[in-house]
Amino acid sequence: MATEMSQEILKYRSQGLGYKRIATLTGYSINTVKSVCRRNPDREEKLCPQCGAKLTPTPHHREKKFCSDACRMAWWNSHPEAVNRKAVYHFICAQCGQPFDSYGNDHRKYCSRACYAQARRKGVRP
Ligand SMILES: [Zn+2]
Ligand SMILES: [Zn+2]
Repeated sequence: MATEMSQEILKYRSQGLGYKRIATLTGYSINTVKSVCRRNPDREEKLCPQCGAKLTPTPHHREKKFCSDACRMAWWNSHPEAVNRKAVYHFICAQCGQPFDSYGNDHRKYCSRACYAQARRKGVRP
């Protein structure tokens, strides 16, 4: 089993990204992402960034980032600069390997139309 793959997935996981987002970013299937995260449960543990309380995920609910609304408000109030970064997504181009940013679009795979066209020419193989 490629540890490089697990590391990539767990890196995103530790940033608090969901399975679906990680699958989109890495190009691995959502089942692969899930099984990697399940095999490394302690890396999955999340803490409230405001007070440090342990967050318990609720099944069938959106993942919580804060333990409470009070903490969420307090955190956003003390990190006004983070608000503006909400719509920026960081990607690695699947074609040329260059990192690039996308504003407001979280489904991009390639840094440019040229890379997109090149990838298409090569075939759909990731
Ligand atoms: Zn908290
Ligand atoms: Zn590219």
